Amino acid sequence: MTPKSALNKYFGYDSFRPGQEEIINAILEEFNVLAVLPTGAGKSLCYQIPALLKEHFSIVISPLISLMKDQVDALNKNERIAAFINSSLDYSSSVKVLNEISQNKIKLLYVSPERLGNNIFVDNISALKPEYVFVDEAHCISEWGHSFRPSYMRIVDFCNQIGIEKISAFTATAVPEVRKDIIEMLDFKRPKIFISGFERDNLHLNVIATKQKKEKTLSIIKHSEMPAIIYCATRKQTEEISNFLAMKGIEAPFYHAGLTAETRQILQNDFFSDHIKCITATNAFGMGIDKSDIRTIIHASMPGSVENYYQEIGRAGRDQKQSKTYMLFDSKDTDLQEFLAMQTMPTKEEIFVIYNAVYDFAGIATGSISDRLVHVDEKFKTFLRRIKVNQTKFESGIRFLKNNDYLQYKHGYENRPHVKTVLSSGDFKKFILSTHKIIFKDLLAMILRNSGNNLFNSFVSIDLEGISSELAIDAETLEFHLDELNKIGILDYEKPPNAPTIRLLKPREKTESLGIDFKSLEKKWQYLLSKIEKMNEFVRSTDCRMNFVLAYFGEVNPNYKCGKCDNCLGLDHSLAQTDEYVEEIIIQTIHEFGGSIKDKDLVKLLAGKAKHPEIIKTNNYGVCRHFSKKEIENFVSKVMSKKLINDVNGRLAVSDKGMDEFILHVKDTKRISANVKIDEDLKYLNALREVRAAASKKFTQKPEQICNDEVLMQIAKAKPDTPSKILSISGFTRIMFNKAGEDFLEAIIELNKAKVIIQKSTDNKIPDTIKLTYDLVKKKYSLEDIASLTKLPEAVVSMQIESIIEYFPDTDISNLFKKSELELISTELSKGLTELKEIKEVLPSFVSYGKIRIALAKHKKSN
Ligand code: ADP
Ligand code: MG
Repeated sequence: MTPKSALNKYFGYDSFRPGQEEIINAILEEFNVLAVLPTGAGKSLCYQIPALLKEHFSIVISPLISLMKDQVDALNKNERIAAFINSSLDYSSSVKVLNEISQNKIKLLYVSPERLGNNIFVDNISALKPEYVFVDEAHCISEWGHSFRPSYMRIVDFCNQIGIEKISAFTATAVPEVRKDIIEMLDFKRPKIFISGFERDNLHLNVIATKQKKEKTLSIIKHSEMPAIIYCATRKQTEEISNFLAMKGIEAPFYHAGLTAETRQILQNDFFSDHIKCITATNAFGMGIDKSDIRTIIHASMPGSVENYYQEIGRAGRDQKQSKTYMLFDSKDTDLQEFLAMQTMPTKEEIFVIYNAVYDFAGIATGSISDRLVHVDEKFKTFLRRIKVNQTKFESGIRFLKNNDYLQYKHGYENRPHVKTVLSSGDFKKFILSTHKIIFKDLLAMILRNSGNNLFNSFVSIDLEGISSELAIDAETLEFHLDELNKIGILDYEKPPNAPTIRLLKPREKTESLGIDFKSLEKKWQYLLSKIEKMNEFVRSTDCRMNFVLAYFGEVNPNYKCGKCDNCLGLDHSLAQTDEYVEEIIIQTIHEFGGSIKDKDLVKLLAGKAKHPEIIKTNNYGVCRHFSKKEIENFVSKVMSKKLINDVNGRLAVSDKGMDEFILHVKDTKRISANVKIDEDLKYLNALREVRAAASKKFTQKPEQICNDEVLMQIAKAKPDTPSKILSISGFTRIMFNKAGEDFLEAIIELNKAKVIIQKSTDNKIPDTIKLTYDLVKKKYSLEDIASLTKLPEAVVSMQIESIIEYFPDTDISNLFKKSELELISTELSKGLTELKEIKEVLPSFVSYGKIRIALAKHKKSN
C-alpha cells in the first residue's frame, strides 16, 4: 500500500495537505523527523500513515488523555487498529491491549508519557518490537515551551531501553529554542526538520513609530473595521487607553488579570457575542479565544517577543477575510519590556533569600537536612509575603535552585506517593519472609522489585494504580495497608499533597558558600533580552514583515513578499513615519521643557549627550541617539520650516500651529475634566449668591459688602461644611460669618446631599445583587443568555428584571425576547389580561412564565 492509498482507505481523503506527503516519506526513509505545523494542519496523519503501512505496531506518546481517546476512536471506526494505555485504564485492560499487539492486531498504541517510567510496561513493550516512536505535542519536552512536562524527559531513556532509533516528533510551536531542545533531548541521529504553514496571507502587518499612543490608537480605531482588540503591555496601559477612548466616545472596556473572574467572563462573552466591538486588554485576553471574525489588532506597545506578537495578531482573521494589524512603537517600549522581563528574573541576592526562606520555613539549621517534603501551601505563601518575596520571582528562583540540583520541585498534579524504609536490606527481606500477612508479603516484594535498592537510601515514588491492579485490590485498601506498614515502622509512607512540593536534596549551607552556577541565570536573562532585541529588529526591518516572522520561525522563503505589509507597500511609508515621529518628539520635548529651549541644548538632549542635570532628567533624553547630530539638526530645521516651532529670542518655542497639531489633545483632556469641576463650582457659587442676596436685603447692605465675589468663589471651590472650615478660608472674616455664615453652610450642606443622591440614583439605586442583570439588560442580552451568564434560573432573573423596570420604567426589554414571543404576549396584554397564570394558559407552552412576567411589568408601567 502507498501513503496515498492509505490516505484514501483509512481516512477517506483524496489528497494530502501541504507538507504531509514529504513528512510521511521522510519517516518511511527512517529519518528522525521534526514536523512543525500549525494547529489544525493535520499532523496526526503524518505519523498515523507510516504506522499503518508497517507490519509491527508503533507507539504514539501524547500528553492529553482526552485527545488520545478521540483519536483512537476515530481510527477504530471500521476496524480496531488502535488502542491506548494510560492511567484511565485498569490493569487487566492493559494486559488485553498488550495481547492484541502481540497478535499484530494493533498498529498504533497511544501512551501517556507517565507510563514510560513503569518498568513492567517497558519490559512488555520492548518484547513486542515496536516500529516507530512518535512524540506528539513535542514542545512539552522543552523548558522554553509553554507546557513543559517533566515526564517528557523520560522519552529518550525509554527509547534507549526498548532499542528504538526511529523517533519522530510533532508540534505546532515554532520557537527556535524549542526546536533545538526537541532535537537534542530526543537525541535525533538523522534529523530532518519540516516547518510549514505558518503564513497567514490575509493579515496586513503595520508598524508605526509614535509617542502618541492613545491618540494614534484612537485614529486607527476610528478608521478600522470591528471587532478589534487593543493589546497593551501593562494593566495600567489598558485602563489609560480604555478611559481615553471612552472620553472620545468609543467603548473599549479594559480586560486584565486584575479583574475578578466573573467580570472577565462577562467581558469575554460580551466580546464573543458582539455586544462590545472593541476591547483593550493585556495578553491575558485571548487564551483559547476562537472568534473567527476579528478584523483589527492594535498593539499599543511592542510585545516582548516575536512569538507573542505573532500569536496575538494571529487572532485576527481566522475566517480568512482580510484583517489589519498595527503595532505602535516607541523607543521606550524596549525599556518597558526589559523591565517586565526583569520582574520574572530573580537576582543572585534574591535567590539567596529564597534559599534561606525554604530552609527557615522547614525549620532546618545550617549543616542539616530533612527528607520531609516542604509544602508550598497557603501557609508557606503567607510566610513568603511576610518576608516580601513575590510569587513570580519565587517560582523562577525555585526553578533555578532545582536546575542546580539543590531541590526537587513538583507541581500538585505531579505529586505521587513516596515510600522509604529505615530497615537494612537484610531486615527488610527477613520481614517479608516472616510476616503472616500475605498482602504485606506481596506488597513489599512488589515495591522492592520496582524500586530496587533505592528504597533503602531515599524516598521512591510508587505507582498506586499499577500496584493496586496487580494485587487486585482497590486503591483505598492499598492505602490502608501502606498506612499500617507506616505505623509498624516498616515503611515511611508519604501521601501525595495537592500543593506543589519541594524536596531538599542537600544540607543547608551558608549562602556565601553555595556552589551555584549563576551562569544559567545570566543565560536566561540573555535569552529574554535576545527575544526583545529580535522584536526591535522586526520593528526596524525594512523587508517584508510577514517574511521576517516566517524566517524567525524557520520557514525559509528567500524571495517571499506578502505584498500587504507596510514595508511591501513601500510608499516610503516608514521614512515618512520616522520624520513624523521625530517631529512629535521635538515639539513635545520643547513643550515639556517649559515652552522653550536653546537649539544646541535640544540637539544635545535628543542625542543623549548633555551634561546639565535639568536636561538629563527630561523624558525624551537620548531618544534620538541613533541619529547623527547633523540629522537631528536637519529634523529641527524641518519642523521650523513647517512653522510648528519658531525662534523666540534665540530659543526654540512651540508655535500655535505646533500646539494645535501636537499638544492640543492634552489640553483637551484637561479642559474636559476641568469643565466638569467648574460646572459644579458654579452651581455652588450661584447658591451662595442667592444666600448673599437674601442677606443683603436683610442687612440693607450691598452684596459686595456682605462678602465679595472673590471670597465667595473660594467658598464655592472649597465647599466647607463646618464653621471652622469656612472661617479658615482666607478673606472670610468673623463679621462676614455673623451676617451670612450659617446660611452659606446650610446651602453647601444641601448641595452636598443632592450630589450624593444624584450619584446614588444613577448607580446605586439598583441593589448590588441585581446590578449585573441590569448591566446585561442594558447590553441587550436575551433572557436565556442572562440566565446562563449569571448562573441564575430564568424565573429569578425575570423577577430581578421586574424590579429593574420598577426602578427604570424606560428600560428597553425588547431584546430579552424573541420577536414572535413579544408579539404573542403583547396581543394578549392588549386584550386586557393582567394575571400571569391566565396569560400563560392562553399562550403556546414555549412562552415562559419569566417572559410573561417581564412583559406584564413593562405593560403595567407604561399604562
Ligand atoms: P493537528 O494535530 O496538526 O492540529 P490534526 O491532525 O488534528 O491537526 O488534523 C486536523 C483536521 O484535519 C482533522 O480533522 C483531520 O482529519 C483533517 N485532515 C488532516 N489531513 C487532511 C487531508 N489531507 N485532507 C483533509 N483533511 C485532513
Ligand atoms: Mg495534534
